[in-house]
Amino acid sequence: MKSRGALFLDRDGVINRYRRGGVLSLEEFEYYDGTPEGLRRLAALGMPLAVVTNQSAVGRGSTTSEEVERIHRKLRDDASSWGVSIAATEYCPHLPDGGCSCRKPGVGLFEKIARELDIDLESSVLIGDSPCDIEAACRLGMTSIRVLTGRGEEPLGEGDGADHVAEDLVAAAAWLERVRESEVETDRQ
Ligand SMILES: [Mg+2]
Ligand SMILES: [Zn+2]
Repeated sequence: MKSRGALFLDRDGVINRYRRGGVLSLEEFEYYDGTPEGLRRLAALGMPLAVVTNQSAVGRGSTTSEEVERIHRKLRDDASSWGVSIAATEYCPHLPDGGCSCRKPGVGLFEKIARELDIDLESSVLIGDSPCDIEAACRLGMTSIRVLTGRGEEPLGEGDGADHVAEDLVAAAAWLERVRESEVETDRQ
C-alpha cells in the first residue's frame, strides 16, 4: 500500500506569533487569531499534521528543552481542544553553525517523522514563513506554501520557489481545499 502524505507546519510565524530572538517561554507563545480555524480546516483534509521547528535559542542557552516541551504540550492540548490531533512535534535545538542535520533547511526531522509515521514525503505539504522552510520542502519534493505572517515579509532567497504564497494559515488551508476539490473534479472526468 502506498503510504500517505503529511502536512508539515513550521511553528513560529505560522501557528504562533514570530518573535525576533525566539519564543523563549510559554508566556511568549501567542497564537494568531486564525490558528484554531486554520488548524481545523487543515486537519479536515485528512492528512496527519506534524510540527517541525528550529529552536536554536536552546543551543544559545536563552531557553531550555524543558520549556520547548512545555510549549509543545500546550500546543497539542490546545489543538485537541479545537478537535485537532497533532501527530508529531519535533524541534532542532542546535546552533546554526553546529553542523547538525536536523536544523531546517536540513531534512533530518522530516525523515524521522516520515519513518515513524510511515509518511510519503513527496506527497506531503509544508507550510512555513521562512526561506529555510521552503528550501527543506524543495529538497524533499514536497509541495510548499509560504505564509506572509511571521518572517514571510522578508525577501526571498535566490531560487526560493514556494508553490504557493498565502496570507496566513487560514488562506493556506483554503488553497489546499481548492486543490483538493480540483483533484476530485479531475478524478470524476
Ligand atoms: Mg517560522
Ligand atoms: Zn539540529
